[in-house]
Amino acid sequence: MQPIQNIFPLLATPKKVVITTHQKPDGDAMGSSLGLAHFLKQLGHTVTVISPTNWASFLNWMPGCKEVLDYEAPNDKASTALAAAEWVFCLDFNTLNRTKRMEEQLQAVAAEKILIDHHREPQTEVFTYGISDTGKSSTAEMVFDFIMASGHEDKITTEVAECIYAGVMTDTGSFRFPSTTASVHLLVAKLKEKGLQHSHIHEELFDNFLEGRFRFFGNVLLNRMEIFYEYNTALIAIPQQDLIKYDVKTGDTEGLVNFPLSIKGIKLAAIIIDRGEERKSSFRSKDGFDVNTFARKYFNGGGHFNAAGGANKESLEEVVAKFKKAMEENREQLSSYQF
Ligand code: 5GP
Ligand code: MN
Repeated sequence: MQPIQNIFPLLATPKKVVITTHQKPDGDAMGSSLGLAHFLKQLGHTVTVISPTNWASFLNWMPGCKEVLDYEAPNDKASTALAAAEWVFCLDFNTLNRTKRMEEQLQAVAAEKILIDHHREPQTEVFTYGISDTGKSSTAEMVFDFIMASGHEDKITTEVAECIYAGVMTDTGSFRFPSTTASVHLLVAKLKEKGLQHSHIHEELFDNFLEGRFRFFGNVLLNRMEIFYEYNTALIAIPQQDLIKYDVKTGDTEGLVNFPLSIKGIKLAAIIIDRGEERKSSFRSKDGFDVNTFARKYFNGGGHFNAAGGANKESLEEVVAKFKKAMEENREQLSSYQF
């Protein structure tokens, strides 16, 4: 993988560009992809953003989101665009299998693949150019750095700024995680100078849910949460019937894992959801517990030091049992925390 700076001189020549990201894109995945798209279009490139799957409706306000192609949609628009691309930017994921059904075509495309990502242990051998920096708060911050370093600060329009802000803000937990460096605040200052209306974005992202989501949260916190005080750990296991009963949509479970993490003393919070085709898990930690390694070792996953996820084919009961066994195996580290 050549350094990303090597493509700066090539940006002046218009190309057919696809930008893609991980399945079920979150604020950072969608924000970084659309921010980069708005930037590249100003340089004359033909840009198509493809999501491997559908996405949460709370992202739909983002400028350009309505034009994003869903690879799983019942037409071949996304695969046609991918086949024709000269460059494929891969944003906010580290391994091609994070693109689900798109993986096979992405692996085989003739286009040069370019990585911009902040996850651990990237598959660098499949990218022609790229940058991987686990010290970065978000991929959106890296897109901002990319635009600035390529000498195009003047192309940070309101659209670019809104998308980048949404990515940085959501991936830093509204600027509270340790990844929120001084450069993150300087970035926000720069976007504000460009006219960003930040409170509008917080409202779009956090004040647009339907009542059912909170009834679902109420049910989950009352009936599906187990606390293991001796391990400083909390687990939420959600059967598929709950998703059906409360009509849970993509994105409705976002942020749920943070509730148990705000209980005094809890160092590891896990949520395992039976999504039918697989059991999807999310892990969050505090105080030095490495959930990236934990997710890799037991749940076919990965991510960051304090936020990771995985997916298993076994039944919900089996994955829960696996979690409890994993918790036991990590007893020493988990129980060492003092209340
Ligand atoms: P979330 O829990 O919000 O879905 O994801 C937390 C972090 O873990 C994200 O950075 C995400 O990219 C990563 N992650 C989530 N699920 C998986 C997975 O199945 N495999 C891998 N490698 N990473 C995941
Ligand atoms: Mn991210």
